[in-house]
Amino acid sequence: MSLPFQLPETFAQISRYKILYPTPSPIHPLPSISQARVSPHHPLISVYAKREDHSSPLACSGNKYRKLEYIVPDILSQAPIYHYHENNPSPPGPLNGPATTLVTEGAIQSNHTVQVAALARKLGLNALILLHRGTGGGLRAASDKEAFQRNGNVQINRLLGAEVRICEQGDPLARDATPVLDELKASGQNPYWIPGGASLHPLGGLGYARAAFEIAGQEKEMGLSGSGRFDYIFVACGSGSTVGGLVAGFKLLEKLGEKPRRIIGILNSPTQPLAYHEERVLRFAKKAGSLIGLHGGDIRVQDVKLDDRFVGSAYGVLDDQGKETLEVMAQTEGMILDPVYTSKVARGMMHWVKERDVAEPGSDDINVLFIHTGGQAALGAYLDNA
Ligand SMILES: *Cc1c(COP(=O)(O)O)cnc(C)c1O
Repeated sequence: MSLPFQLPETFAQISRYKILYPTPSPIHPLPSISQARVSPHHPLISVYAKREDHSSPLACSGNKYRKLEYIVPDILSQAPIYHYHENNPSPPGPLNGPATTLVTEGAIQSNHTVQVAALARKLGLNALILLHRGTGGGLRAASDKEAFQRNGNVQINRLLGAEVRICEQGDPLARDATPVLDELKASGQNPYWIPGGASLHPLGGLGYARAAFEIAGQEKEMGLSGSGRFDYIFVACGSGSTVGGLVAGFKLLEKLGEKPRRIIGILNSPTQPLAYHEERVLRFAKKAGSLIGLHGGDIRVQDVKLDDRFVGSAYGVLDDQGKETLEVMAQTEGMILDPVYTSKVARGMMHWVKERDVAEPGSDDINVLFIHTGGQAALGAYLDNA
């Protein structure tokens, strides 16, 4: 069976370990979110969802598996290079032999850590997960704090047999987990560190650069009206390499003659200002771009479009608007969003669509893609809020 897309040579040569299903994650319409043509001057706005929560057979499918596909070859190599903590001031050389243990971190209800733990088991490796009580506001907002630290993704991490260590607020390990890696080495293991969200990993942006080609291939098969493309793509911006990778991939498509698409990253945390995220996303896009054959000046700051209007009061807090979005999507489309990321992204996307910010009067019909990045397993921990 052939895929509906082909990568250019430089990109195709980068090694990738298959974690996803061999077919692209599905794209389907969201008719209840779409906007009819209210007058001849107002174009039809058709909204679709790409289901990254249905992209892999591994536990709690979500966007991290796509990133990890390009990291596994280093993990399994005889001398892994990118195994140490990003804040380690004195980076050690390559590991002496393939990794035995994947180590990563996240907030208490992190989806990323579950995907790393499931991958570790699939590869026959151990997983050590650091969960930070101080990250975000989910724990603070939970009325039953014990349950929040036991349910949802924490339960799944334990089920997967990961060693889970819960770190207190202010634990120096939240800044640099090198002591944990040293401890594992001293016990004879070969630890491989994966940064939170896999975004600071030098190969972390490649998965979503490839996803851009997958989406472009799916567009052609779908026979969309209007431009025939997704004019707008809405996706979460957390640690940033999902949107950064997409920016790089679509820029390469532009260089190959495709028309541009507008990619909007919806922020979900008010902790850092917009400029902080813009700088990171640009950096991740340029890094991925440099690996897939783009040049330094190809990706510019104007290519990174982030929207910080839907961050809510804190990362990981499901507020009334988030709840409403969860309910609307569940009760119209029968689709379940997650409480931390996609409920905010969908809210932002629905705002853009409803206000017709995606279309100019008199423009052609518009196609909008909402990327569902997964994360529903956290819902169990938000029981009293959802
Ligand atoms: C990690 C995650 C994101 C954010 O992706 P980044 O690449 O970190 O920006 C979005 N949605 C879900 C469900 C996630 O788990």
